[in-house]
Amino acid sequence: MKTFTTSLLCLVLSTTAYAATEKPVVDGRIIREVIKEISSDAYEGRGPATPAEDKTIAYISQQFQAHGLKPGLPGGQWYQDVPTVTITADPAMKLHVESKGNAFDLAYSTDVVLWTKRQEKHTEIKAADLVYVGYGIKAPEWGWDDYAGQDVKGKIVVIEVNDPGYATGDPKLFSGRTMTYYGRWTYKYEEAARQGAAGAIIVHETGAAAYPWTVVQSSNTGAKRDIDRDNKGMDRVSVEGWMTGESAVKIFSAADQDYAALKKSASTRGFKSVPLKVQGSVAFDNMITTSKSHNVIGILPGTSHADEYFLYTAHWDHLGHCPPVKGDDICNGAVDNASGVGGVIALAEAFAHGKKKTQRSVVFIALTLEESGLLGSEWYGTHPVFPLPKTVGGINMDSLQMIGPARDMIVTGAGKSELEPIFAKYVIAAGRTISPEDHPEAGHFFRSDHFSFAKVGVPMLDASGGLNIIGARPRYGRQQQEDYTALHYHQPSDEFNEDMDFMSAAKDLDLFYKVGLELANTRTWPNWYKSAEFRMVRDASLR
Ligand SMILES: [Zn+2]
Repeated sequence: MKTFTTSLLCLVLSTTAYAATEKPVVDGRIIREVIKEISSDAYEGRGPATPAEDKTIAYISQQFQAHGLKPGLPGGQWYQDVPTVTITADPAMKLHVESKGNAFDLAYSTDVVLWTKRQEKHTEIKAADLVYVGYGIKAPEWGWDDYAGQDVKGKIVVIEVNDPGYATGDPKLFSGRTMTYYGRWTYKYEEAARQGAAGAIIVHETGAAAYPWTVVQSSNTGAKRDIDRDNKGMDRVSVEGWMTGESAVKIFSAADQDYAALKKSASTRGFKSVPLKVQGSVAFDNMITTSKSHNVIGILPGTSHADEYFLYTAHWDHLGHCPPVKGDDICNGAVDNASGVGGVIALAEAFAHGKKKTQRSVVFIALTLEESGLLGSEWYGTHPVFPLPKTVGGINMDSLQMIGPARDMIVTGAGKSELEPIFAKYVIAAGRTISPEDHPEAGHFFRSDHFSFAKVGVPMLDASGGLNIIGARPRYGRQQQEDYTALHYHQPSDEFNEDMDFMSAAKDLDLFYKVGLELANTRTWPNWYKSAEFRMVRDASLR
């Protein structure tokens, strides 16, 4: 440890002066050009499976080709098909709850939001027992199993959002306030399905979920897009959903249980799930349609170890046409995520025009359907074009920081993988620092495409330019970021602007370039740390 610190210090001293004037390897003009092009109104906000998709993926593959990449798929193909299905549940449904001498209905949208991911015309659960499973977590590496000794087959499980570390703030429970994968709602449904439950309903709480009930409503009612899974979603629970905190109180009191007390005990070690002696019934019809979207994949084959891969990824899709604001109904997605696509293309150019070819192959992927729930990356993860155990790692870019030159970089979900010290080495060598993310409890690491790769074991880095802007007043960067989130994020006004700082973004990407360049030229295999939720998957995949 000591030698590491000393040598790192020498590195800092010898490179700081040089780093300040160093011209970026990554060309900021490419980032600008790509954003200006694909965030223009001609691309209609890049909605997947629309004519705008054809235009977008054609542009990206032409750029890949122009910058010297080879098509990533067999037969000289640039596009990986991503079959999708859209399931729309009939909103004329309710959750009927019955206990001894008590019966009531919970209304759709106001009290509960339910759906299915199974491709079935009709969904129905008849008088299934409800079981409170606390946080619904089975995590061997944390010695935690909420399902221990409880058979939930055919039953409806009621689950808390987030994890016990968040609830207690105890740094020794899971990752403390930092959300783990076990805290994500997606995990809750997956685990409930593995346990054989018929239904899984999460109790909403604004703080723990990091968003209000209105967001649960708007993102889960109406048409829900999913990938068209080989098993037609039949390995999922029949009914997934959310209920309000008030609905939970109502159900628990019908079962003569104190919800607040049970919720408290759920975050203590040794918690045992509780059958509620209450039955739930629900029935609804589904409208099902299918379509196809595409990931765009290019590669620079390596020299001596071409069958090993390093990835750069960014999603190309955005929201397409959206509710109009001041007469503008195109969500252009300039920052989110034309900028990330610009980053992938600029990195491709930097590698292709580098002096020396890399030993391992470098792969560049523009992913689809991120905005629909990380679906393009999930499809890739379950239908990998390059073998996952041969994929060394990768970096995902979702919304580049183009506010201005920052003294710092931010790593999201820090403390997970051995990619982080490699990245930190280059950050420090550039005379910069790494800042912690603002809201580790919000689980941002699980909210973009790198997570789909992590889930199948591939170590991924999620980092971005920091907010400590050189030459600006102290809160300037954070203020700009907050303004973007409040006024432009997922709005028609996320548009191209010449004031965006493409050159600073390129400097940030230089650090990503260096990490990829190092890993494309070594024999090492950085892994997840032992405590990371993806370590066991990776170890099994490498075996
Ligand atoms: Zn995005």
